[in-house]
Amino acid sequence: MRNKQFQIFLLLAFLVLWNGYSQNAQKPNIIIILTDDMGYADVGFNGCKDIPTPNIDRIATNGVKFTNGYVTYSVCGPSRAGLLTGRYPQRFGYERNPQYRPHDPNMGLPKEENTLAESLKQVGYTSGIIGKWHQGADISNHPLNRGFKEFFGHLGGGHRYFPEDLTIQDSYAVDNDEGMSYKTWIMRNHEPIQTKKYLTDEFSDEAVQFVERHQKEPFFLYLAYNAPHSPLQATQEYLDRFPNIKDKKRKTYAAMVSAVDDGVGRLLDQLEALNLDKNTLVYFLSDNGGPVKSNVAGNGSDNGILREGKSSIYEGGYRVPFAMQWKGTVNPGVYENPISSLDIFATIAALSKSPVKKGKPLDGVNLIPFLTGKNKSIPHETIFLRKFDEKGYSVRYKNLKLVVDNNNPPELYNLKEDIEEKNNIAKQNPKDVKKLEKIRQEWNSELVEPIFGGLIMSKKEKIKENNKD
Ligand code: CA
Repeated sequence: MRNKQFQIFLLLAFLVLWNGYSQNAQKPNIIIILTDDMGYADVGFNGCKDIPTPNIDRIATNGVKFTNGYVTYSVCGPSRAGLLTGRYPQRFGYERNPQYRPHDPNMGLPKEENTLAESLKQVGYTSGIIGKWHQGADISNHPLNRGFKEFFGHLGGGHRYFPEDLTIQDSYAVDNDEGMSYKTWIMRNHEPIQTKKYLTDEFSDEAVQFVERHQKEPFFLYLAYNAPHSPLQATQEYLDRFPNIKDKKRKTYAAMVSAVDDGVGRLLDQLEALNLDKNTLVYFLSDNGGPVKSNVAGNGSDNGILREGKSSIYEGGYRVPFAMQWKGTVNPGVYENPISSLDIFATIAALSKSPVKKGKPLDGVNLIPFLTGKNKSIPHETIFLRKFDEKGYSVRYKNLKLVVDNNNPPELYNLKEDIEEKNNIAKQNPKDVKKLEKIRQEWNSELVEPIFGGLIMSKKEKIKENNKD
């Protein structure tokens, strides 16, 4: 009898252990590496020749390169809001870059929206953000009040890179001055700290240490480099890697990208060293296209053959370098169907069974069945963009794209045949224009108007906005 009780005990002990094991196995870690204002063609995996990115390329080689990867907006703030909530930011009025207003609780991500960190917290994840926040500088919107347990970075839309340039200790002492906000000390959680290194290297160090600290629990690391966003600043060590680039802007930009690439390499090495690489999804993407349009201050980036760049409703504005790896689960390959930064939240929510807030349905889908070949259909029939202030819209329906630019006649492109959006076929295809216009109006009817003024309303000249965001 005793023996039987012991057997039952063993069985129960096994079941408890197994349950714990399988729960953890169902909860992979997630790392999102986001760059700022990086061009579509500025990674090796998209054909870049003059800036080697061997480490960023490792993600695409280990996993999947997305040739048609989109973000939800063509400038920083709203694009990040879409990434963090898994919802089109136009649904909740986040359609402008927020001003740096540390005493305005409404300037930033609305409190009713749920961040990925808030969702993952409910199923036992520890979340950390390293780098640029840009979701509101008021304390109520501080990352630690939006689901993150750790923060090492800056609250505003950009930052200076050299420690000697960071002269303002208190981030809350600056008000409504973007240039000054670039000079604040870096914050560790709520404490201002003095950095010692080039900022990109500081962020990379922190990322490696974050993984070390949290290796034994499910974690979400949001590594949001502010590079290669302006100001164009790089150390001699990185500049010296590009003796053959003569254009000064491109050379500095290349050095900044190279610093990011080093950091990505160290982070991937850390995952491998700790044997976490098979239980960690790693995403790499840029928050919007490279600023290359003549009316936007350029940073030396290159979107390849894509039309225009940052801030635009053409492909160069919001089709970005995009790759992900999940070693052992997703086989290496190239994925051509349109996908979105919105899919990151939906994917990790499905894998971790983290809750989605009631009344705030996600706009993305779990991409894993599509990437493993289980689901042969396409993840998205439509990809949308609206820029309220410019009355600009893009609707991609399969391979057709409708562009509505203010009150001009609508344009239509076939992206499969005409990736450069050179050949407007609207006149020849009135039925398609009508069909996509109906889709546009339906989506538009679900959206609200912008809920805060943001940079665009605070500056008379648009060019200034684009310099700063
Ligand atoms: Ca950006």
